[in-house]
Amino acid sequence: MKRSPISSLTLLFPISALTATIVVGTILPGCAHNRGKNWEAKLGPVPEGPIAPEKLKKEIRVKQDHIPKGRFGRRLNRPMRPQFITVHSTQNYTGDAFDHAKALKRGALRGGVCGFLCWHFTVQDNLVVQHIPTDEQGEHADFDGPGNRYSIGIEMCEHKGNDQAKTIDRTAKLTAALMYENDIPIDRVVPHYHWPRRGYKPPNKNCPHFLMDDGKPRGTWNWFLARVESHHQRLVQHAQLLEQQQQEQNPIPKAPPVMQVKADPPARQEREVFPLLTPARPGRPD
Ligand SMILES: [Zn+2]
Repeated sequence: MKRSPISSLTLLFPISALTATIVVGTILPGCAHNRGKNWEAKLGPVPEGPIAPEKLKKEIRVKQDHIPKGRFGRRLNRPMRPQFITVHSTQNYTGDAFDHAKALKRGALRGGVCGFLCWHFTVQDNLVVQHIPTDEQGEHADFDGPGNRYSIGIEMCEHKGNDQAKTIDRTAKLTAALMYENDIPIDRVVPHYHWPRRGYKPPNKNCPHFLMDDGKPRGTWNWFLARVESHHQRLVQHAQLLEQQQQEQNPIPKAPPVMQVKADPPARQEREVFPLLTPARPGRPD
């Protein structure tokens, strides 16, 4: 009887669940869809329990080394109300966070709308360097697109000797602290991939490449987001605890019975609205 090609293959390679995983994993390494498990094993889980923002900030260790105001990446006055956090990796295998700070301060990285690249933070395994204030626009994502106009840019270092797991966890902590400070929800924490770049092929960059699967945000990125949210939840728990303590110390007195008095209708209040795709400053050309 003629054997079908499939059954021949089955005879040569009896497929158990384990071998199937190995074969698929070998042929398509990007299909692992959660490389975060290896980093998680190294780092351990995010500690449980509330943490004060000041304490988390101490752990993050942010050193300020700003680009001089009015020069290079800060040559234009571009205020920003951050609504997203964009995560990148440097793809520079020789420069640490200080090297990137030096390059930004002498205008060595050209590009973008203002002529010079810049972003807010560079993270390495043991500390973070801040390059511009978080209420100023950077040049790191998508030229004149919303990624630059509304997001805080974080670069993760990749230089030799830098511990990747620790860098990722420090980035997760920094992201959580920025979410908390700026009231940014987890679904607005995005990889550079999220922002298409006009005129580029492909428009969506494989960045940060080591958190992408097959060049896209999938399992490994979701692992990172879960780590960020765990750090963020500790800050939220701390705020809730403080509120609870305040309520216990100053209980709200029981309100006296309300008398029915006909009052004037309340004045109409203007609500502050920040539409996503509206330029931060009116009159700015798209
Ligand atoms: Zn990037």
